[in-house]
Amino acid sequence: MDPIVSQLCSSLCQIVGDKHVLVGEAIDPEYTRDESLTVAPVVPRAVVRPANTAEVAKLLAFANAQRLAVVARGAGTGLSGACTPVAEGIVLSLERMNRILEIDEENQVAVCEPFVRLTELYAAAEAKGLMYAIVPGENSATIGGNVNTNAGGMQAVKYGVTRHHVLGLEVVLADGQVLRTGGKIVKVSSGYDLTQLIVGSEGTLAVVTQVIVKLVPRLPHRKTVLAPFKTLAEVTHAIPKLVATGIGPLMLEYIDVLTMASILQRSKMDLGIDPKLREQAMAYLLLVTEGRDEAGTERDAAELGEKCLELGAMDVFMLPSQAGRQLIEAREQSFWAGKAAGAGDVIDVVVPRASIANYVERAGLIAAEHQALVVGCGHAGDGNVHLAVFHGDAAVRGKVTKALLTAGVELGGAVSGEHGIGRAKKRYYAALEDPAKLVLQRRIKQAFDPNGILNPSAIFD
Ligand SMILES: Cc1cc2nc3c(=O)[nH]c(=O)nc-3n(C[C@H](O)[C@H](O)[C@H](O)COP(=O)(O)OP(=O)(O)OC[C@H]3O[C@@H](n4cnc5c(N)ncnc54)[C@H](O)[C@@H]3O)c2cc1C
Repeated sequence: MDPIVSQLCSSLCQIVGDKHVLVGEAIDPEYTRDESLTVAPVVPRAVVRPANTAEVAKLLAFANAQRLAVVARGAGTGLSGACTPVAEGIVLSLERMNRILEIDEENQVAVCEPFVRLTELYAAAEAKGLMYAIVPGENSATIGGNVNTNAGGMQAVKYGVTRHHVLGLEVVLADGQVLRTGGKIVKVSSGYDLTQLIVGSEGTLAVVTQVIVKLVPRLPHRKTVLAPFKTLAEVTHAIPKLVATGIGPLMLEYIDVLTMASILQRSKMDLGIDPKLREQAMAYLLLVTEGRDEAGTERDAAELGEKCLELGAMDVFMLPSQAGRQLIEAREQSFWAGKAAGAGDVIDVVVPRASIANYVERAGLIAAEHQALVVGCGHAGDGNVHLAVFHGDAAVRGKVTKALLTAGVELGGAVSGEHGIGRAKKRYYAALEDPAKLVLQRRIKQAFDPNGILNPSAIFD
């Protein structure tokens, strides 16, 4: 073994025990990457698996003294290469810190260690008649990962994104200091809001060791509406008007024709729509309502359906609950469908909701100009578009991606609505973000992590 790695290994073993330090061949390839399509895997010097906050604190104090890069890792489901290791550094995998510490029914909060997977949090909340409202499409993701990417997902149009549900954190700073922010409190106006600063920081400011999230009462009824349209433009124009009804759908997604075909094929699902109508449909809206009573939920769905017809839908289908669930699950698989079809990149631009029509039109022009294929779906109610970019030449693909991101920013949007910057998008972020903001962000990073050990390759260099 390389003497540097050997010495490092023995220091790390003293903190977490021999079993929880992996080096060389023992490092599973899963630790070297996330699900980004554009960021290559990197093998770190070691993977270390602390059991508790005290061990995380000792690890960071050690790493800080050694100027050793530390990349915190959740489930590795991220789409921006944010948890990709640094070759000379270590991966700090939170996998042993996986307990739900408390479901507090009266305060309607959950207190979790960082590696609680969403599946587990959903089940624990449901058992108490409550719900964790953030559903970012991949339920094997962890709450620590969600906090650090400020994950969004399909229910954001009603409930907001992760940051709107994080009430407090326990974090370990780069020098090993343990800090608590917020608490089981729904409001706070006491100095800078460090909780919100850390949310979405991609492991560059601190390592999160505990999360307090808000839970909401579980509403028992859901109805799903599917509306096919003849043009994508009609769909995108309809979105702000559907939001303006005030009905407040739980989900408001758009799916273009190619994406719909690929997700249906992948999930072996038949929508039961007349083939002639399917041939004419170029895009779909998928809407879900939820409520306390069945009749009211159905009435909301019917009203949204009526509105869709008014706005140009060819027809409107109220899906039976099983089919509705299946279609939503299929929609969640759109990333895998795009990957299987050979997508070279998937981006998640966000624009103001009312600009989504303009944006999608510009995306079509950009694709045509570069002879690329750009297809997608998205959390339309949030103005958040997921576009898969297909082109055989990586250089052209890069140009298309840059043009798509630029168009989003020009419309008052942002490079990433929910997947984060990570490594995949940092060159675009550097080029498109306000330079003054970048300078201030670097100063914040410097204040939290003066030696630059925490995820030094993410967001900016
Ligand atoms: C099929 C699919 C669909 C998806 N759909 C959506 C979607 O609709 N909406 C959406 O928002 N996302 C979506 N994602 C992205 C992904 O699920 C999220 O980014 C998720 O939040 C990542 O969680 P994770 O546990 O996998 O984190 P990781 O990928 O392991 O890490 C993500 C970032 O968080 C940091 N991190 C992780 N844990 C900690 C910690 N304890 N302390 C400090 N930093 C930490 C890492 O360093 C990294 O920067 C999808 C992913 C897939 C594969």
